[in-house]
Amino acid sequence: MQSIPFNKPFMTGRELWHIAQAHTNGHLSGDGQFTKLCHGWLERSTGTRRALLTHSCTAALEMSALLAEVGPGDEVIMPSYTFVTTANAFVLRGAVPVFVDIRPDTLNIDETKIEAAITARTKVILPVHYAGVACEMDTIMDIARRHKLIVVEDAAQGILSTYKGRPLGSIGHMGAYSFHETKNIIAGEGGALLVNDPALAERAEIIREKGTNRSQFFRGQVDKYTWVDVGSSYLPGEVIAAFLWAQMEEAESINGRRMDLWNRYHAALAPLEAAGQLRRPVVPEGCVHNAHMYYILLDSLAQRSAVIDAMKAQGVNPVFHYVPLHSAPAGLKFSRAHGVLQNTDRLSETLLRLPLWVGLDAQLPRVVAALEAALRQHPAQR
Ligand SMILES: *Cc1c(COP(=O)(O)O)cnc(C)c1O
Repeated sequence: MQSIPFNKPFMTGRELWHIAQAHTNGHLSGDGQFTKLCHGWLERSTGTRRALLTHSCTAALEMSALLAEVGPGDEVIMPSYTFVTTANAFVLRGAVPVFVDIRPDTLNIDETKIEAAITARTKVILPVHYAGVACEMDTIMDIARRHKLIVVEDAAQGILSTYKGRPLGSIGHMGAYSFHETKNIIAGEGGALLVNDPALAERAEIIREKGTNRSQFFRGQVDKYTWVDVGSSYLPGEVIAAFLWAQMEEAESINGRRMDLWNRYHAALAPLEAAGQLRRPVVPEGCVHNAHMYYILLDSLAQRSAVIDAMKAQGVNPVFHYVPLHSAPAGLKFSRAHGVLQNTDRLSETLLRLPLWVGLDAQLPRVVAALEAALRQHPAQR
């Protein structure tokens, strides 16, 4: 019996056609036909002022750190339960990540704990929309307004998700998407920065183009192209954009197919939740998610390890993440926790992600059966 991988990147087939077109166009550096198509799609689907493709979500977060002008000693409030680069993009500028705990329902930053973590050095609040389910953005934006802080949304997992009808990534001053092959819409490696605050749009283009005014030059807005600011090279070439455009053309259908799988897991696991054997994901009212991930919460670290081993023995490959950043070696060096991160510590030890990828359909019952069998062998000790 073939083993079921955790992830399998889905390709529409049209990627190769678009790459062939980029080849024919002969424009291989950034900001050609396909990049413009991707920018247009992002701007239409999110309503952002300016969408800019980048090499990765990490690169988009690095740009946001430059745009927010964070410097040595400035503080950025974020969850510890997130991917490394949420923090690293700011540590690169000498800033200090300040971690607050997550909510037990969505595993998103606990908005009620943010205000107490604000100091005179706080510059940015960085909500991470875990599993494509929105953080409590009304509260977060209100805190930011009252304390004059910048909000950068890590919407790496949140493409086409909404909060009270508003696309994730379009609510804060800036938002960052990922098109890594483990996400819903992929380019292999890729990302985008949504610049929602019009005051930052021009500088964002400059930072992305090596600190030059090249974008304005190409639009005929200035008559020479020169070094005007700090910056780096954050734009992907056209081959990547051509690939990504094929994915964007089918984004709704890709998410729809993921949603079918997500709903099937959710229905199949309801009895186990009712029996107290696991907890299923919670999607608060007003949040529309994108079926980025199906995770369950188990009872303990020991049980989770045993369940993973038992499922692997049956040819199914679930995974877990993250090692909370506040307890990671670099986290201890570069950041600090505000208060006790009780939910972060407990939930990160019990979370298990099930395989979820377009094409899994026929094999999904095998995943569920493997989980049920593993839980019979290793039941929750409640
Ligand atoms: C995937 C991910 C990132 C990093 O995205 P890259 O495109 O690989 O740089 C950052 N934050 C979160 C929450 C992610 O899930």
